[in-house]
Amino acid sequence: MKKLIPVLVAVFTVCNSYAIMGQPVSGPVIRKVVIDPGHGGHDPGALSPDRKLREKDINLSVARYLGQEINKNYPEIEVLFTRDKDFAVDLDKRGTIASEQHADLFISIHVNSARKNTSVSMGPETWVFGGDRSLRKDDSYDVVLKENEVIRFEDNYKTKYEGFDPDNPQSMIVFNFQKDAIMRQSRILGTCVQQSLRQGPLRGVGNDRGMKEGGFVVLAYCSMPAVLVELGFINSSTDRRVLSSEDGRRNLARQLFTGFEKYMETYAENGKLHMTLDEEDAQTEKRYRVQVMASMEKLPDSDGVLKTYPQIQYIVSPDQIYKYKYTMGDFITIEEAQQYCNTLRSGLFPDAFIIAVKDGKLVPVN
Ligand SMILES: [Zn+2]
Repeated sequence: MKKLIPVLVAVFTVCNSYAIMGQPVSGPVIRKVVIDPGHGGHDPGALSPDRKLREKDINLSVARYLGQEINKNYPEIEVLFTRDKDFAVDLDKRGTIASEQHADLFISIHVNSARKNTSVSMGPETWVFGGDRSLRKDDSYDVVLKENEVIRFEDNYKTKYEGFDPDNPQSMIVFNFQKDAIMRQSRILGTCVQQSLRQGPLRGVGNDRGMKEGGFVVLAYCSMPAVLVELGFINSSTDRRVLSSEDGRRNLARQLFTGFEKYMETYAENGKLHMTLDEEDAQTEKRYRVQVMASMEKLPDSDGVLKTYPQIQYIVSPDQIYKYKYTMGDFITIEEAQQYCNTLRSGLFPDAFIIAVKDGKLVPVN
């Protein structure tokens, strides 16, 4: 398979002097947004029952409208796309592009599908990277499997995602390059976006499908707050009416934009406007990490485990024989650390355990 070189494109520098200016957060803390239209090229994503309506086309169209909305209301924010045409981009590349571009936000746009065709609207879902719920073998789990599925077509995916089993998104969790502060911000962004989508044209009947956590490959490589939205269901005839019309797509983009705007307001209200995520992190006193190994000497950078898991950090505890404590994750609460620890123990690090760190030093857990 020919490898496509991902092209990063800035489009739509809209000069619209009549645009109603939103209330830009002073700063602004968000300078660059990467919008990721899911699928593309050989990967059509979900299809309507007659196979005429393709997820990849809907995603691209809504992504463009969202870009226009942001440019119109916040011309100072740079909007970039992982693809601006119908071509494939590897899942890890999408997040990597955003990280390399030092983007402040990442929004991946998708459309859902269910096992059974339906006439009712089943509602939107917003996902962030995380562990717990993907353990359940229900519809939610299906979404994670489906969205990760495409890596099987990527060149040498087995080498690239070594240790990751596409049938078990839980194994993606150990790839997590995200800092805890970023995961927290992602949840805030996810909540804002989901609330807004719920008020849009694909609000669904019945309960809110909500904001969920899952082991999405595309989100794992994002080093900034990141969400993946499933706008609605392509195999719902009600949803399809919205998804197939330009008006409907524009409306959906507007809802996404409202969620994005709400996130910026929330950020501003919290007084975190001029605080970097690292500074925000440093404000917290004791932190919990999961120790995965220890060593008497500092391990060389060429160490196999360190190369496989570049997110591994270490602290030095000079009084102990095994001075170098190698850790993964970084959490405010012990509960979050415990959950992450369980994931690591059931996978590649059966002896993992929780440690507590303050000012770079080992402190008692309790
Ligand atoms: Zn998708």
